[in-house]
Amino acid sequence: MEIVALIEHDRGEVADVSFQALAFAQSLGATGVHAVVVGPLSAELTAALGANGATSICHIDGDLTADYDPEVWGEALAAATAQVGPQAVVGLATDRSGEVLAHAAAIADAPLAANVTAVSTGSDEWAITRIRWGGALIEQASLKAPVRYLTAAVHVFVPQVGGGTATVNAVTPNVNAVTPNWSATAGRTQIVDRITLASGITLTTAAVVVSGGRGVGSPEGFAKLDELAGLISGAVGCSRVVTNAGWRPHSDQVGQTGKRIAPELYIACGISGATQHWVGMMASKKVLAINTDRDANMVNKADYAVIGDLHEILPAISAEIRRRKS
Ligand code: FAD
Repeated sequence: MEIVALIEHDRGEVADVSFQALAFAQSLGATGVHAVVVGPLSAELTAALGANGATSICHIDGDLTADYDPEVWGEALAAATAQVGPQAVVGLATDRSGEVLAHAAAIADAPLAANVTAVSTGSDEWAITRIRWGGALIEQASLKAPVRYLTAAVHVFVPQVGGGTATVNAVTPNVNAVTPNWSATAGRTQIVDRITLASGITLTTAAVVVSGGRGVGSPEGFAKLDELAGLISGAVGCSRVVTNAGWRPHSDQVGQTGKRIAPELYIACGISGATQHWVGMMASKKVLAINTDRDANMVNKADYAVIGDLHEILPAISAEIRRRKS
């Protein structure tokens, strides 16, 4: 089976999480995994794509691809898809990849299944499990089309090798240039300025999230969460009570009206586990609750729990990590 996979990057900078699209393609039983790169393609990226299972690269480059433009990327992906003739086109369920796959699917008049967590390709009609309604609904659906478009829920399909870094076993994939027939409107979106809201590890891509709720008590209280997150290369999240109180920005909020995340480990500190919060982090692989209330919803649902005051427990965890690191 031939599968086209969109590689998400920003001006050539690829987040490790982008390689999950290749892992997703492999999980579907792809024999040919064709990575689509729109814009700059370095030798390092080529090697990393090979290390993560790409058998070829479709490269679209030119004046229009200097920066991100959803329509240009959508047309580029559609052109690469037409060139390869795959059974499926995949990407990640991030804002950017979701937008690009939606454009490409619309161009092809093909169905798109978003936020997929499992696929069975046994018959012509693929059985799909996907997250809907902000995580409140896990849907079983079927998808039948000559070319199927799917985005994978983040952190569900993890690369077996490489993880974003080239390995010694890397196979260098062939690079095939793709030249789209750009539409008359391609390039009408132009980025004229950028403001950095977050850099490095972000809430949606971090493998570990240390999240705080009302129990943190104050903006200053978050220093303990920041410290632990810094030690384990994690990101800090929070509940809506926290953003309502102005302790943290809304961009840090997890939940129905915040971000939906799926880290390897979610550490919920002083968060009761209301449904509206839970739907934002229920896709986490493991949950550790730190709470004074042993009957809190978060404690009952978590994989692990520490009953106690987060202001004592977090510094103790950080101290132990520091001790082991030294
Ligand atoms: P609380 O429910 O007050 O819980 C605080 C917890 O901290 C308690 O369990 C307590 O035992 C514990 N605690 C206290 N002190 C300590 C301590 N020293 N050490 C350890 N534990 C301690 N909420 C979200 O989070 N995200 C959303 O996106 C969201 N969207 C919403 C949308 C709608 C339409 C509505 C109606 C609500 C939404 N909410 C959302 C709010 C949600 O219903 C809850 O009110 C909120 O999640 C509660 O936040 P919390 O857990 O921080 O606070």
